[in-house]
Amino acid sequence: MNDVVLTGDRPTGPLHLGHYFGSLANRVMLQDKYPMYVLIADYQVITDRDLPGEIQRHTTGLLLDYLAVGIDPAKATVFRHSAIPELNQLLLPFLSLVSVAELRRNPTVKDEIAHSSQAVVSGLMFTYPVHQAADILFCKGTLVPVGKDQLPHVEVTRTVARRFNERYGPVFPLPEALMGEQPVLKGLDGGKMSKSRGNAIALSATEDETAALIRKARTDSERLITFDEERRPEVANLLTLAGLCLGRSPRELADEIGDGGAAQLKRVATEAVNEFLRPIRRRRAEYTEADARQILAEGNVKARERAVRTLDEVQAAMGF
Ligand code: ATP
Ligand code: MG
Repeated sequence: MNDVVLTGDRPTGPLHLGHYFGSLANRVMLQDKYPMYVLIADYQVITDRDLPGEIQRHTTGLLLDYLAVGIDPAKATVFRHSAIPELNQLLLPFLSLVSVAELRRNPTVKDEIAHSSQAVVSGLMFTYPVHQAADILFCKGTLVPVGKDQLPHVEVTRTVARRFNERYGPVFPLPEALMGEQPVLKGLDGGKMSKSRGNAIALSATEDETAALIRKARTDSERLITFDEERRPEVANLLTLAGLCLGRSPRELADEIGDGGAAQLKRVATEAVNEFLRPIRRRRAEYTEADARQILAEGNVKARERAVRTLDEVQAAMGF
């Protein structure tokens, strides 16, 4: 079987270091080996908020972030949900393949409900994992580079694919999740680093913004820096961040900082992150917003052709 890679992000804000170490680094590596689709999941924005917000600006921003980290539009097809009606139509047969109890049990959905600022929980919150099955299966994706929060969703996709094949005949492959170097990178407040939780270091942040964010991060008052995730999560978190950016172990960095205290720890972390982001910032500046829009328009056309073929196959299998 020929592997196909599918991943994506919601256009809810700029991509951050969690994305990089959770998923983007893998994507850049995989685009050289396999056909790759990168989805800007615009319909998913309204799962946990009433309005889509600045969706155009965030969509262009995502494109620029992709280009900055090295996703190459000559190798990867970047597209968005709202441009591919045939992908969205797969949601109908797929929803018939899962039970309400299964939708309710999803641990990532529960976590997102807990962090949502919406007054009521919408039906889309429970059904978007099935929509993600459509995202992955429209192109017969087999490899899905994601962070840890996405594992339950890839499991839903496997269930949908298996049940579809059992009921209607073999159409879909069963995809595998590929976790990155850091399956969950924590944010500067200790929770999962997220675009919408105000705790992230964006890939597009300037040097000064990065320094200011790290300066604000919580630490503790112990002078000797040690790597102890249980007892000193905030300190461990900054060490992890610096370690990932430097390609070094957090323990080794802790030994080096020794009794330099929080101030030295933050200096090391700031330096490490800024050094790491420098080439990414440089590449970002080489593209304009018009380039980004053009790349997306071309990707949409290619992705749509793929979706039309899959929907045809699905309807034929179902006898429609
Ligand atoms: P939002 O707060 O809007 O949900 P997000 O930061 O959670 O934004 P998503 O667009 O939901 O980002 O996720 C895109 C991809 O990045 C997913 O594969 C997800 O697993 C991965 N990812 C997001 N945050 C992290 C993180 N902190 N560590 C590792 N991977 C992450
Ligand atoms: Mg998310």
